[in-house]
Amino acid sequence: MRNQPSLPHLPRIALVVLDFDETLYDWIGYFVPALEAMITTAASELGTTPAALRSELKAVHKRYRNTEHPFALLETDAAQSKLAGLPRGEQRQALAAAFDAFNQVRDERLQLYRDVVPALSRWRAAGVPIVGYSAATSVNIAPRIRLLGLAGSFDRIYASPYAGPPYPGRSTRGRTADVPIVEMARPKPDPDAVPRITSDMGIPPEATLFVGDSIASDIAPAIEGGAKAALIRRQADSTTEWLPGLLEVSHRSAETRADSASLSDKDLVQVPTVTTLSDLWRHFTFGASGT
Ligand SMILES: [Mg+2]
Repeated sequence: MRNQPSLPHLPRIALVVLDFDETLYDWIGYFVPALEAMITTAASELGTTPAALRSELKAVHKRYRNTEHPFALLETDAAQSKLAGLPRGEQRQALAAAFDAFNQVRDERLQLYRDVVPALSRWRAAGVPIVGYSAATSVNIAPRIRLLGLAGSFDRIYASPYAGPPYPGRSTRGRTADVPIVEMARPKPDPDAVPRITSDMGIPPEATLFVGDSIASDIAPAIEGGAKAALIRRQADSTTEWLPGLLEVSHRSAETRADSASLSDKDLVQVPTVTTLSDLWRHFTFGASGT
C-alpha cells in the first residue's frame, strides 16, 4: 500500500487541514476524567459537593458556549463567593491544587492515536503543508501541542479566540513551542475557515483536504467552501464510557457529534469515511503544490 504508485483518478491534495479532538487523540477520554479530578479536589477546598460544582461549571460553560472555557472553575458561584475580591492570578493560586489535579490526569491520559505520527511524516515527506484547525481556544491548544510533541509537524494552527476575564497569568498566547497559533475571529465551525486558511497558505480550496470527526464542524464547512473533506470515525474512542460525565458539565444538552448538518446526499457521497489516517491514501493522492 505504502509504495503503491499514485492513482491518477484520485483527487490530488496539496494542503491538509486536520481537526484535533477525536481526530488526532481521544479528547473525551482525557478531558472528562481530568475535569473530574479537578472537581473532586476543588469541591473539598471550596466546601461544596462535586455535584453542585458540576452544575455550576455547566452554567459557566453555557455562558461561554464552550465546555473548555479556560479556568471556568474560577467563575463558578462557589469560587466567586470565596475569591471574588482577589486578582485573577491569586484566584488561580488559591485553587492551584485543583488545576494541578486536572493537569496530572491530562498528562497521563492524553496521547496521539498510533497512526498520527506516520501520517504526518508521510505528508511531510511529500512536501504537503499540514495545518491544524481546533475548536479549542488558543490558550488551551498550546499546552496540548507541547505535550503531544506536535509543534514541528504543523505549519500553523488555527484556534478559537479566547474570551472572558483576563487570563490568570502564565499565558502561552502567541509564544507557543515553534508553531504559530492563529486565533480566528469566531469559534469553529466558521464559514470563513476555508477561504481564510486556503488563502493564507496559497493553495486553492479544491486542492485542500479537511479531515475531522464531525460533519457539522469539519465536513460541512469544508464542502460548502469548495474544499475536499474526509470523515474520520475512530473505532476505539471512549465516548460511551465518558459521555454521561461530559453531559453533566457540557454547555450542550446533548453531545451528538452534531451530525444534523444540512449536507445533501450528493455532497456526502463524495466524502469518504475512514477509521485511520492511513486510509486517506486510498481516496486521495498527496503532493506539493506545483509538482
Ligand atoms: Mg473533533
